[in-house]
Amino acid sequence: MGKALKIVVLAKQVPDTRNVGKDAMKADGTVNRAALPAIFNPEDLNALEQALVIKDTLPGSTVHILTMGPPRAADIIRDAMFRGADGGILLTDRKFAGADTLATSYALSRALLKIKPDIIVAGRQAIDGDTAQVGPQVAEKLGWPQVTYAECIETIDEKQIVIKRRLEHGIESVSCPLPMLFTVNSSAPECRMANAKRVMKYKYAKTPGELQELQSDYISDLCAGRSYLCIEEWGVSDIECREEELGLQGSPTKVKKIENVVLQAKESKRLTGADADIDSLMAELIASHTLG
Ligand SMILES: Cc1cc2nc3c(=O)[nH]c(=O)nc-3n(C[C@H](O)[C@H](O)[C@H](O)COP(=O)(O)OP(=O)(O)OC[C@H]3O[C@@H](n4cnc5c(N)ncnc54)[C@H](O)[C@@H]3O)c2cc1C
Repeated sequence: MGKALKIVVLAKQVPDTRNVGKDAMKADGTVNRAALPAIFNPEDLNALEQALVIKDTLPGSTVHILTMGPPRAADIIRDAMFRGADGGILLTDRKFAGADTLATSYALSRALLKIKPDIIVAGRQAIDGDTAQVGPQVAEKLGWPQVTYAECIETIDEKQIVIKRRLEHGIESVSCPLPMLFTVNSSAPECRMANAKRVMKYKYAKTPGELQELQSDYISDLCAGRSYLCIEEWGVSDIECREEELGLQGSPTKVKKIENVVLQAKESKRLTGADADIDSLMAELIASHTLG
């Protein structure tokens, strides 16, 4: 049996952009977060499942979530704990706000230097920013090897991991020494469901900020006696970093304008499976140089 590993999953709470209605954007072009439910970024759930598979394979391994976001992002840490994670760290501070991918990956990598994991697992991409840059940038900043587009783990021990990658034109198996980072595709297995016993155990898991907000002696006393109910909360002063590289001031990218583009089909043609229809379509496609 291999050595237990320390695994960190990078996860982001995102507005559910899959069900965007007409009031999803404000007049000034910013996202109307109040109109969209906040969810666990879908591919980060695929990433969590892969981390839990490692924990199942190498008993004694731990899985923690690291998320940078507003106080309510603690919800996804609790959700992950219900599904099998051991706990998590919420990186929250006004100074992190307005971060682009460069400032986000800088803040996350500074927190990871403090956590010292063996493996970092991230989703391929977040459904709000859609850049797919944060995972690879974190690996680069740590100077760690990375594997992208992961679909499943083929083998793992304390020294190396073999990962199946899903690429546009096929699959690839790559081996990589630890410590390393990999990003997971949506084609990877879905995350296991919340477990009823774990929901009962972790439903009162809170950050210090949430406890302060709740002002409930009952829940505060409960958390004080049970360290597994304490979700860690780190601000800028908890990580070693250069403040000028964080948040808005550390972000060279500025989103200037967001437009609502409605695609409309200008014309359509209905064809049957008859030879004459297929022949005329082929002739048209060849004439327009779409084929041939
Ligand atoms: C409409 C829109 C457009 C944007 N365009 C740009 C742009 O062009 N350039 C730019 O630099 N920024 C852009 N941003 C900002 C960008 O969303 C944020 O910088 C964000 O913090 C990280 O980028 P992402 O959402 O694209 O993440 P991705 O790089 O797509 O995320 C990949 C993975 O990294 C991890 N991850 C990402 N964010 C976090 C987090 N906060 N905490 C923990 N793990 C995380 C997750 O595992 C995630 O699956 C845009 C934001 C919006 C809303």
